[in-house]
Amino acid sequence: MKKIHKIVKNLIQKYDTTNPIELANHLGIIVKHKPYSQKTKGLYVKIFDSKFIIINCNLKKEDQEIILSHILGHSLLHFNNDTIFAWENSLFPQGIQENEANIFALELITNHNLLKSTNYQPTF
Ligand SMILES: [Zn+2]
Repeated sequence: MKKIHKIVKNLIQKYDTTNPIELANHLGIIVKHKPYSQKTKGLYVKIFDSKFIIINCNLKKEDQEIILSHILGHSLLHFNNDTIFAWENSLFPQGIQENEANIFALELITNHNLLKSTNYQPTF
């Protein structure tokens, strides 16, 4: 198991944001929204040196945030330079990599929601 808590903490400190869209942009990933069927949550695409995360805008706003954070987790933990295309079809799929991406999303969103809802300052 990778040290996901530490990875998320370092990202938030380095870029001074918990917003997954801002974090993606800092990491050179462009976030787009497109309407898909409910079955497709989102996808990751790499075209030459450009990386995109495309989120299904028909999903609930909160779900869009979770999916974006989840795919962002994959892009940092699992996708390498050979990955050019990956679909995200389920919110809670099985498997080690899926679990790790879910943990990444949970860590990020927990921090994000705490910051939004209170004057909470992350202490780590
Ligand atoms: Zn996944």
